[in-house]
Amino acid sequence: MRIGINCGHTVSGQPGCGAVGLINESVETREVGNRLMAILKGAGHTVVNCTNDYAATTNANLAEICRLANAQPLDLFVSIHFNSGGGKGTEVFTYNGVRHAEAVAVCDKLHALGFVNRGVKNQSLYVINHTNAKAMLIEVCFVDSASDVELYRRLGAQRVAETIAEAITGKTVTRKESEELTVTQYEELKKEIAGLKPMIYNYMDNNMPDWAKPTIQKLMDKGILVGDNEGKLGLTMDMLRVFVANDRAGIYG
Ligand SMILES: [Zn+2]
Repeated sequence: MRIGINCGHTVSGQPGCGAVGLINESVETREVGNRLMAILKGAGHTVVNCTNDYAATTNANLAEICRLANAQPLDLFVSIHFNSGGGKGTEVFTYNGVRHAEAVAVCDKLHALGFVNRGVKNQSLYVINHTNAKAMLIEVCFVDSASDVELYRRLGAQRVAETIAEAITGKTVTRKESEELTVTQYEELKKEIAGLKPMIYNYMDNNMPDWAKPTIQKLMDKGILVGDNEGKLGLTMDMLRVFVANDRAGIYG
């Protein structure tokens, strides 16, 4: 199968990041999703990483996820999320609430691990509505439920990832196989993902997030920020955030 996997939201603390409760959604979507990708690759599937770690806004994050998913034909698109808001258990969203075999299996198999089965549901979600492939969004469990988090911690992200892999492929993941993957392909994947992270903002152009532009322009006008000898600013996302925070605190006048 050709499977697109999205670790939901941007990374923790960024615009578009996930819910925070007893655990942090942005962190756990990556814990589960990266393992899931490694397991599926190891089982011979073509895996496309549809994760977007940094975006200017939630909408930009969602659009980028769909762009990554729609850049090639996929048999299945899976977005990993964790729920919040005072419930308990697992639920899966599909287009029109269609009960795809894979979606039903995810609910059933996570239920078998001990999570309440909230079922396959219809909810108008951007990544479900705008991806071309058969799509589902998995809410593994609730970040703000003490019993869900206790169970999730006891099982571990690896076990949850294996269970989702089994549900979407219909094949058993052998423990040995997945442990081998954890050390090899998971590390490889992590490197791959880490390699993508430090986006550098050199110019005031489309690439520069809109929320940072007024501050960066001000700093350039005041001569506080000057480019290198090629005129490149060489700013990272973290630097943009610090400059904007300082600006909002009135430090640059
Ligand atoms: Zn979410």
